[in-house]
Amino acid sequence: MSRFFSSKYSALEPYVPGEQPSGMSEYVKLNTNESPFPPSAAAKEYALSSTRALNLYSDPDSVELTRTIAETYGVERNMVLATNGSDEILNFAFMAFTDIYNPALFADITYGFYPVFADLNGSRTEIVPLRDDFTLSVDDYIGRKGTVFIANPNAPTGISLPLSEIERLVASDPDRVVVIDEAYVDFGGESAVGLTKKYDNILVCQTFSKSRSFAGGRLGYGIGSEALISDLNTVKYSTNPYNINSMTSAMGIGILKDGEYTATNCRTIMENRDYTVKALKAMGFRVLPSSANFIFVSSDKIDGGEYYRKLKEKKILVRHFDKPRISSWCRVSIGRRDQMEAFLKATEEILKEKV
Ligand code: PMP
Repeated sequence: MSRFFSSKYSALEPYVPGEQPSGMSEYVKLNTNESPFPPSAAAKEYALSSTRALNLYSDPDSVELTRTIAETYGVERNMVLATNGSDEILNFAFMAFTDIYNPALFADITYGFYPVFADLNGSRTEIVPLRDDFTLSVDDYIGRKGTVFIANPNAPTGISLPLSEIERLVASDPDRVVVIDEAYVDFGGESAVGLTKKYDNILVCQTFSKSRSFAGGRLGYGIGSEALISDLNTVKYSTNPYNINSMTSAMGIGILKDGEYTATNCRTIMENRDYTVKALKAMGFRVLPSSANFIFVSSDKIDGGEYYRKLKEKKILVRHFDKPRISSWCRVSIGRRDQMEAFLKATEEILKEKV
């Protein structure tokens, strides 16, 4: 730390992203929940033909992109804000809807960026522990004041909540905002986007990074009432008006136009998930029920940290969180069938080496 660093950030513990090794071909990469499939070829073609002149700034309102997102979900365009990854809309939501008086409420085991956003913005947080079986009960939030952040499906557990439970929470207190982070919703979850037309206190955040194979493009968005989106735009225009670059915007439109490609890839990932879960359970692993493109696994035969290290020695990357309650678990992204076969083969070898 330099002697110039503002004291307001000196205690900030930044988010630690999953490893992104440069010699990528060396590893079977199952650690950051990316799609193993390339972005849609039709989208690339569309983007090449429609990118705005790059000597000009990008459209600060991302009009065409937000219109396409709005049409995809059957909402009004002024209910959509496009951002630089969904991390950005989440940060904007912490900036707009939490502070020292109005805390951020979120689970003890959830997306690791939430506490960082809260600290960055000087917001108070109240941690609401998951139940012993890692499920989230909305009853633990009802009756408490503060802005709620729920990843649905949750990460790193993969467990999802039914839409009826989200609605019960949103309806229970019209005077607080509920943010539903749906980064993984396309792999079997139920989206709450429809509720944004009925309630003005829900913000749904989604991303192009997972089901849409565009993590490197950095594109996400929020959908909520016109008033919520207007607040978030105030924050955006005070931070980075040109937050979406023209190339990413054009790709985003192309990807949405080729929805069938995304749907096919999601089906393949869900099939590969079922295949992997079955094989792991046959080896004695505990696997939480996942509605995401990853699974959360543990075994009595091997500790989570050791399993992660041994897999890495065999050139398979998964994610281990050395944190209370989950240090014996590993999160494994679901990839192509050949990648999952390599992962299962390595797992079998590791277990054999243990006996
Ligand atoms: N929410 C959750 C739960 C995530 O796991 C991630 C990915 N790390 C994000 C949001 C952010 O993804 P992105 O910024 O790539 O849209």
